Amino acid sequence: MKQVFNFSAGPAVLPRPVLEKVQKELLNYSGTGMSVMELSHRSGPFEEIIQGAETLLRELMDIPEEYEVLFLQGGASLQFSMIPMNLLGEHGVADYVVTGSWSKKAVKEAGKIGTIHQIKSPGDIPAYTKEDFSPEASYVHITSNNTIEGTRYTTYPETGGIPLVADMSSHILSEPIDVSSFGLIYAGAQKNLGPSGVTVAIVRKDLIGKAPETCPTMLKYETYVENGSMFNTPPTFAIYVLKLVLEWVKENGGVAGMEALNREKAGLLYSCIDESSLFSNPVPEASRSLMNIPFTTDSDEVNKLFLEQAKRRGFEFLKGHRSVGGMRASLYNAMPLEGVRALVDFMKEFEADQGGTSHVDH
Ligand SMILES: *Cc1c(COP(=O)(O)O)cnc(C)c1O
Repeated sequence: MKQVFNFSAGPAVLPRPVLEKVQKELLNYSGTGMSVMELSHRSGPFEEIIQGAETLLRELMDIPEEYEVLFLQGGASLQFSMIPMNLLGEHGVADYVVTGSWSKKAVKEAGKIGTIHQIKSPGDIPAYTKEDFSPEASYVHITSNNTIEGTRYTTYPETGGIPLVADMSSHILSEPIDVSSFGLIYAGAQKNLGPSGVTVAIVRKDLIGKAPETCPTMLKYETYVENGSMFNTPPTFAIYVLKLVLEWVKENGGVAGMEALNREKAGLLYSCIDESSLFSNPVPEASRSLMNIPFTTDSDEVNKLFLEQAKRRGFEFLKGHRSVGGMRASLYNAMPLEGVRALVDFMKEFEADQGGTSHVDH
């Protein structure tokens, strides 16, 4: 089999040992004689899986007792609607810090439900303090890692007691965070947690139960709390793989272990870009993402050539988001260090080739 390194922004690379375990257990899960996909979600073995996943996530992220862990569907995108439906309360006002495309999409949905104040961030992400927010806001929403722009918060906003809600889809479990400084954290699984189909929400208990009577049952957080995330059939296979990913994170040093590895990987690629006279990254150093690293040359043609050659060498999905162009390497937890080393070697080789022939027509 051809060696491939998958730099996709999502659905993304999964840890190899997780895929091997899935393969090994596929036809006969834990002696049941059935695939995990065939098991009733009300059965003992599946109860163990979903409870095990919650326990592991609580342990890895050090989630306090006052928080519920919910397994939802509809992706991070449905949270753009569920959050305002459940959290806006009587005032109907919330503040959204806009740092990129996903924040904009979150604003668009929330604006259908309440009054949204937008705080537009410059290219970098400053340290926000309570003076930046409206006193009547029911919550402050941020996108803590901007998957498309390649930026992240290094200091989380000081909201002065207003619940902080964070879309952590593209960097959950990539570095330790203090859960107690958030009211709600959510993430679609397909970047750092598992396959697509399941979305995790970590919600402070006092924020649950405020949705209006008219809110559909499936869109209320309390429905998931009261039914152990099984009011209806959950995405059982996705939750099973998510649990295996959490086991893998634990075996590999937990979130601190992931952070060390992620810093090393991102450091390698940023150094390569910064030292290069061909490639560049537009993000101010202080706001650089550890997960999603956009880079480009100043020629569309050279970008195209780079992507073609990269693909031939087994570097997959390096094409930048269509709104940005150029290239993007997503270095999620499951991307091995050797993948980044190989990419950096290839970039240096490509640059040397370009310099050697200097025939680039602009
Ligand atoms: C990928 C992504 C989303 C969208 O996730 P879906 O699960 O496809 O809805 C939202 N926010 C961020 C930050 C993302 O990276």
